[in-house]
Amino acid sequence: MTHPPRSALSRLVTVAAALAGLITAAGPPGLAASAGASADTPKGLDFAGIDRSVAPGDDYFRYANGLWLKATEIPPDRSSYGTFAQLAELTRQRTADLIREAAGAAAPGSEAAKIGDYYASFMDEEAIERKGLEPLLPVLKAIDAIQDRAGLSRALGATLRADVDVLNNTNLYTENLLGLWVAQDLDDPTQYVPFLLQGGLGMPDRDYYLDVSPKMAEVRSRYQAHIAGVWTLAHLPDAPGAAARIFELEQHMAQVHVSRAESEEVLKGNNHWALHDFAQRAPGLDWPAFFAAAGLADQNRFVVWQPSALIGLSALTASVPLPTWKEYLRFHAIEHVSPYLSRAFVQENFAFHEQVLSGTPQLRPRWKRAVDETNAALGEAVGKLYAQRYFPPAEKARAEAMVRNLVTAFAARIDRLEWMAPETRLKAKAKLTTLKVGVGYPDKWREYSGLRVVRGEALGNAERAELFTLHYHLAKLGRPVDRSEWCMTPQTVNAVNLPAMNALNFPAAMLQPPYFDPGREGVMDYGAIGAIIGHEISHSFDDQGALFDASGRLRNWWTKSDFAHFQAAGARLVAQFDIYRPFPDIHVNGKQTLSENIADVAGLSVAFDGWRLTQKDKPTPAIWGFSPEQLFFLSFGQSWRQKIREPALRQRIVTDGHAPAEYRADTVRNIDPWYETFGVQPGQKLYLASADRVRVW
Ligand SMILES: [Zn+2]
Repeated sequence: MTHPPRSALSRLVTVAAALAGLITAAGPPGLAASAGASADTPKGLDFAGIDRSVAPGDDYFRYANGLWLKATEIPPDRSSYGTFAQLAELTRQRTADLIREAAGAAAPGSEAAKIGDYYASFMDEEAIERKGLEPLLPVLKAIDAIQDRAGLSRALGATLRADVDVLNNTNLYTENLLGLWVAQDLDDPTQYVPFLLQGGLGMPDRDYYLDVSPKMAEVRSRYQAHIAGVWTLAHLPDAPGAAARIFELEQHMAQVHVSRAESEEVLKGNNHWALHDFAQRAPGLDWPAFFAAAGLADQNRFVVWQPSALIGLSALTASVPLPTWKEYLRFHAIEHVSPYLSRAFVQENFAFHEQVLSGTPQLRPRWKRAVDETNAALGEAVGKLYAQRYFPPAEKARAEAMVRNLVTAFAARIDRLEWMAPETRLKAKAKLTTLKVGVGYPDKWREYSGLRVVRGEALGNAERAELFTLHYHLAKLGRPVDRSEWCMTPQTVNAVNLPAMNALNFPAAMLQPPYFDPGREGVMDYGAIGAIIGHEISHSFDDQGALFDASGRLRNWWTKSDFAHFQAAGARLVAQFDIYRPFPDIHVNGKQTLSENIADVAGLSVAFDGWRLTQKDKPTPAIWGFSPEQLFFLSFGQSWRQKIREPALRQRIVTDGHAPAEYRADTVRNIDPWYETFGVQPGQKLYLASADRVRVW
């Protein structure tokens, strides 16, 4: 989620994992048991994890999760751990079993065989060790052969991948010079258009290069040492000199980069350029050579998301000496595929990208990395198997009914908004009516017959899979927009709003306990998955959603006074989050996380209403002394439980559009019923006077 990150959960995409797009940091399966759980503790929530010594009004996150926090250690191969991670680990284990089964029974050339061969090739560590850098030699030789700016431009164009996503997954990072996102044109939603984003940095954000704090200075020196380490492993000459030059080039790139918060502003990003504009407005790169190598030579309509960055990056290709660019390309060619190289490269990559940047002590076991890479390469083929096994039609129907109920509750909230003009209200209702909600898995599956997977060619498979994905997206250009396409796999523990598509995806793996559990009272589902569904629905109506009409056209459909009211509420939420300080020297960026925080407030409000609607038929009983309302809010508070290592938390504050989990749990302070439910009083730390509570929807 970016322009504001649109999905419910934050993701930590490591540079190594960015090989194939979206991979979350991984960890081992198994529950972190709470202190004091016993046979007579009721099921459905972690009642034993509640810390009754903390007043809910002082620290809601610690009240709901305190004993769990005390009893839980983050597994050594993870940078964070909590509800989301537990589910991701369980899902990964199940996916690994499915992949191994598929491989055993597969006919040659079938999708199952491709899945099995991809996984097995990655697991064959001995073969990978034996080959060393040899599978990468063609790429390195092509870099050696670059003789002029046209050759450099071709080489940079050839690195372009479909690896960013501005509005849906809100992944704004690519280590390639530019990133490509193919999506519907915001000025003409019947057409696809290529979006180009800034890239080129080896660290997660410009702040890592420019921030003057001692912490960041330390990370910079570790990064230079890492570049030198890779260089040495590849037996290339003059490691310290090359590392200094490569780092300096990236620092120049960072200086022209646009900040994360600014990159989230759709109105600043929606810049249409024709093909001939590039040479004229962004001199430096040989653009025809770049686009020919990228597969975009026949396009004449582009969206340049950060024009000043693109202009600056292009100029650097002319001002920085060619030999430095060749060093830069060599380093990134190796870095990009490190997970597929020998142990020494894997270790070097892990030591910087996961230890230094996220604080993770231990490399994930190989099978976990193999599952993640297979998911990245053949996501929907694996997802088809996952959905068949783990998402029965009855659960799909139950989830769809819940979504319908929440849409009804949302519509009722729109009707009750006193400040909204009648014409805006009508348009909001129309947008709600055309919202396309996908539950579990897509209606039609992506096809992989064009992807060649060869057993024993781990790196070749990865390179082909990346290009297959690129060509899949390039092929959409010139074809009608397909609103049924998904941007997450069914085995992803997350959910997403596709604002320009006016569509939602709720993957099967998100629709399982403890978010969605057929074995407990519905009120707990409403507090967990209900709030997430409400969150995603509300993104269609948040500060960004307000910019897109029901067809996905970028056209503000609010009256001026409605939008002013909405922005004033947003400003109060920015202030509310700006004061959260996980460490004395850093605070949450209220502006960068605004859309997500609005969605959390709206999602929780609508989930509470949605649950109330169910009470007519079957009132919820109290459980273990907790009222139904308390169960609702406890389920919400526990759905955000998480422990996270300091470097990982610092990274997320810089790069993530979501606030840290702890503060998301504290969203409750904006919801009136929470005050009555827990008897929260003035003077308590989370208490907000009624006028200070942010009520957006
Ligand atoms: Zn979101």
